[in-house]
Amino acid sequence: MSNKGLISVFTGNGKGKTSAALGLMLRSSGYGKRVCMIQFIKGDWKCGEHEGVKHLEGLAEIHAMGKGFTWKSDDIEKDIALAKEAWAFASKKIQEEAFSMIILDELTYLIKYKMVEEQDIINVLKNKPENLHIVITGRDASDGLIALADLVTEMKEIKHPYKKGVPAQQGFDY
Ligand code: ATP
Ligand code: MG
Repeated sequence: MSNKGLISVFTGNGKGKTSAALGLMLRSSGYGKRVCMIQFIKGDWKCGEHEGVKHLEGLAEIHAMGKGFTWKSDDIEKDIALAKEAWAFASKKIQEEAFSMIILDELTYLIKYKMVEEQDIINVLKNKPENLHIVITGRDASDGLIALADLVTEMKEIKHPYKKGVPAQQGFDY
């Protein structure tokens, strides 16, 4: 059986990027494979996956990084330091060889908002363990990430209930 670790990017403005990554986590767990998800942007609310992952105990873990860090903050220096710390944590996880898949959720924003050098990220990804799958999510994936990836899917919004004023739904959006 072939076991090539792929680099995948789910980008675009439509819904489904993080959901797709979580789907891969569930699929991998069916083979007893270990998955680590690192979330780089602090969400405004609690996400179901933080509790749901407990059902995959021993196989999957989720780390919500960037305590208090968003690009809305007024202390940009502090945010950059937190983003660099989060990336250092992710780099360590990538080099650990403990997982079959690592999901870097909303990683694209670290590059977009120039919080971490794109080249630093690319260097770590290029030197990842051979068999490790990497999944990156987030809007506006940079050209460098797209060039490096084996698989890139753009989630394109055709309709979103938000546009009709329907708020985010529990278990569907968060
Ligand atoms: P999901 O986590 O649901 O797979 P996503 O990762 O593709 O969504 P993000 O850009 O990370 O999307 O946005 C996170 C939140 O914003 C989710 O609750 C999602 O439903 C919502 N969202 C996604 N796309 C849109 C959109 N086009 N308009 C408004 N809200 C959106
Ligand atoms: Mg997302």
